[in-house]
Amino acid sequence: RAKAAGRGSSQVFSAEMREQTIREGRLEQELRAALVRDELQVVYQPIIDLRTGRAAGFEALVRWQHPRRGLLGPGEFLPVAAESGLEQQIDRWVLRRACLDMMAWKQGHPRSRLLTLSVNFSAEHFSAPGTVDFLQDVLHETGFDPARLHIEITESVLLGQTQAILQTLQQVQALGVKLHLDDFGTGYSSLSYLHHYPLDTLKIDRSFVLSMLENRSSAELVRTIVAMTRNMNLSAVAEGVENQEQFAALQALGCEFAQGYFFSRPLPLADACQVVEELDARQDDRE
Ligand code: C2E
Ligand code: MG
Ligand code: MG
Ligand code: MG
Repeated sequence: RAKAAGRGSSQVFSAEMREQTIREGRLEQELRAALVRDELQVVYQPIIDLRTGRAAGFEALVRWQHPRRGLLGPGEFLPVAAESGLEQQIDRWVLRRACLDMMAWKQGHPRSRLLTLSVNFSAEHFSAPGTVDFLQDVLHETGFDPARLHIEITESVLLGQTQAILQTLQQVQALGVKLHLDDFGTGYSSLSYLHHYPLDTLKIDRSFVLSMLENRSSAELVRTIVAMTRNMNLSAVAEGVENQEQFAALQALGCEFAQGYFFSRPLPLADACQVVEELDARQDDRE
């Protein structure tokens, strides 16, 4: 009996695996087509300067307007993209699109010249040859100010081939582009070696912000990260701020920047720009 059941379940298992492989294969083909047919989009989430209450910039986040399935978030297609080597293409498309968008918006708005743009690069992409050249080309083509461009990488980048990675990080820094460490606290980086890398900002992972009001050790971790960034001359961005209490707690800790649904969801550019203008107007009234 056990044997029969075992065989039966392994058959079910392999049927499921086959189905999954087929599904992923189809998704990969659709994603390749999406890149050609321009089905990808960029949404923008404002990042708030907690000292002034104004927007400091935007994080660009990719979306896929799938012909049948509607708007998909990165969690639904980046894993497949990573397996099929499409992640680099997607990251590059987002970088270029976002720089062009920001430059187009800049025409009419004086404050827009001060806003930063953060773009996510996968570890694979960041470590691949040609990344620095591509960055340089896009900056040249679009005229976007390198000092206002932030590339977000995760701690996994720093776990790679140390010498080669360090060189790439330094080349990016030499372009004048800032490096932000995303999802900080979830990876393996030991605090002691962070200063070896030319980083500008740590982004405190959403999970810590989410639990900081209920959980002592999360609160302590956020406090430590903020204090440490200050000692190391780095900036801190808190991710995933969803309510007034978290906002106030972060402000009290001296965290410089924050993003989250409390301020704004990621939005199409025109809507995100409107949020920026509303925040500005509110501060103008106060000042
Ligand atoms: P991330 O870079 O850490 O981006 C922040 C994510 O948190 C975004 O999810 C954003 O919508 C979400 N978020 C922001 N505020 C809140 C909040 O208050 N509450 C909650 N629950 N969530 C919040 P999204 O857009 O689904 O992106 C997920 C991840 O996908 C990103 O995490 C990033 O790792 C990756 N990603 C997005 N766009 C790109 C891209 O162009 N290239 C690469 N390589 N990765 C990307
Ligand atoms: Mg990010
Ligand atoms: Mg993040
Ligand atoms: Mg995150």
